[in-house]
Amino acid sequence: MKKFKCPYCNENTVSRFRKAFAGSLKSKGYKCPKCGGHCVNGKESTIFNVILNLSVLILILIKFYNNSNDAVPFALALLAISFIISKTFDAFFYELDKTWRIDINRK
Ligand SMILES: [Zn+2]
Repeated sequence: MKKFKCPYCNENTVSRFRKAFAGSLKSKGYKCPKCGGHCVNGKESTIFNVILNLSVLILILIKFYNNSNDAVPFALALLAISFIISKTFDAFFYELDKTWRIDINRK
């Protein structure tokens, strides 16, 4: 299975699954087993997630505004789908990046 390059030590240490849950630039990310650097999904992922979450929010608001009976299950289903989409995109696209957080050990 393909592994992704750690942005700190340039070794292929991060698996697809771990990358999917590494989070965005402002999260703690996944700790590289080799160098201990915190790897996160880069800018493209963060931008994509912002757009995705915004569209989900707008769709949910429209649904609630229209007073539909199934607004709550609709909202929950949409949130679940957007979560899966964002994790799938994180797993298959984008490069890994260094975390922007300064409260954790930055190497
Ligand atoms: Zn590393």
